[in-house]
Amino acid sequence: MSTVTGAPRGARSAELFDRARRVLVGGVNSPVRAMRGIGRDPLFIDRAEGAHVWDADGNRYVDFLASWGPAITGHADPVVIGALREALARGTSYGAPTEREVRFAEVVTGAFPSIERLRMTSSGSEAVMGAVRLARAATGREAIVKAEGGYHGAIDGLLAQAGSGATTLGVPTSPGVTAGATAATRLVPYNDLAAAEAALDGAAAIIIEPVAGNMGVVPPAPGYLAGLRAACDRTGALLILDEVITGFRVARGGAQERFGVQADLTCLGKVIGGGLPVGAFGGRADVMAELAPEGPCYQAGTLSGNPLATAAGLAVLARLAAPGTYERLDEAGARLEEVIRGSGAPVTINRVGSMLTAFLTDTEVTDYAGATACDTDLYAAIARGLLARGVYPPPSQFEAWFVSTVHGEAEFDATARALAGALEEAGA
Ligand SMILES: *Cc1c(COP(=O)(O)O)cnc(C)c1O
Repeated sequence: MSTVTGAPRGARSAELFDRARRVLVGGVNSPVRAMRGIGRDPLFIDRAEGAHVWDADGNRYVDFLASWGPAITGHADPVVIGALREALARGTSYGAPTEREVRFAEVVTGAFPSIERLRMTSSGSEAVMGAVRLARAATGREAIVKAEGGYHGAIDGLLAQAGSGATTLGVPTSPGVTAGATAATRLVPYNDLAAAEAALDGAAAIIIEPVAGNMGVVPPAPGYLAGLRAACDRTGALLILDEVITGFRVARGGAQERFGVQADLTCLGKVIGGGLPVGAFGGRADVMAELAPEGPCYQAGTLSGNPLATAAGLAVLARLAAPGTYERLDEAGARLEEVIRGSGAPVTINRVGSMLTAFLTDTEVTDYAGATACDTDLYAAIARGLLARGVYPPPSQFEAWFVSTVHGEAEFDATARALAGALEEAGA
């Protein structure tokens, strides 16, 4: 592939990475971006449009990272950009309520029957932090059950066997997290209902990704989510569904709509921000009423409900309301699955709608143990080969590939060609 500058492919990214490492830790602002999981240096991105990103050397890539999920209607969606332009001219932050936030909450509560009241934040991590604190406040209990390999943001109490970044770097839990912070965290294997039922005794809540996305994509086993719902009802613990990835991605009403389950509290992020920093949590009115200023449980944020984030979020949620959108996303996901299968790569593919992971293993992957048993060296080789051929996969075996409404035949054909080359080069 040619470059616009005529410089060697990757020279500008390499130069920026050199500079970055002097002033940013590891040259990045979030660990997996460093691409250590696939044994190469990061690409510096210059711009993005539709299904593509361009690096600082002018190379174009078919993008399956989607900014880790948000870019569901493609990059630089003209409708989102238009909404942002309009909002921008009215000022970027007021620290006071706005009509847009009301509309945003109306849209979210309209899409999720289980969300009666909402609180917006500036990130998914903050949303989870608020939901966990609220669950403890509302139940008067402390223990939180979470799944091994489940990731709920960079939060002390939940950085115990958290997937993605932590998994990729082989750090099951992080130094700096006090024993006290995780003392009330109970770990269970994903998809193991009996283990969750036992752990829920006396617990404030279970927090779970209803489709795991941060150990790679692992769908819930049939009956798992309904079983958790029943176990929570029995024990008085709250069911917190972390739909930061799946909300508005696997259905308009998230995994709750797709799998027919209702959470007590739901965490949202990623897609709902249209590419701006955002998060939200919400749920049962009686539980949410414990939150300040109605109740005693404190939660706040200077930029929460930010005008730009809310405008971008509203625009993308309106786009996703167009008839046939989720059918189209499912078809695009199925098409990517077909491309990967057709390549003959030695993989087990887990897919839910427009998110999938191709695990380099010949066995089923239903939990963290299964995910981490994959051939990560082979994944790394294939991912490097794809990048060299103009396709941008997630830079870790333990992340999801995302397709958008604007990934089409040209992109899938290019991906099939790149994959054939990458597999041959990797000797797979
Ligand atoms: C990304 C993610 C988070 C954290 O969201 P941030 O916006 O990165 O803070 C929480 N939970 C899940 C399931 C996620 O995928």
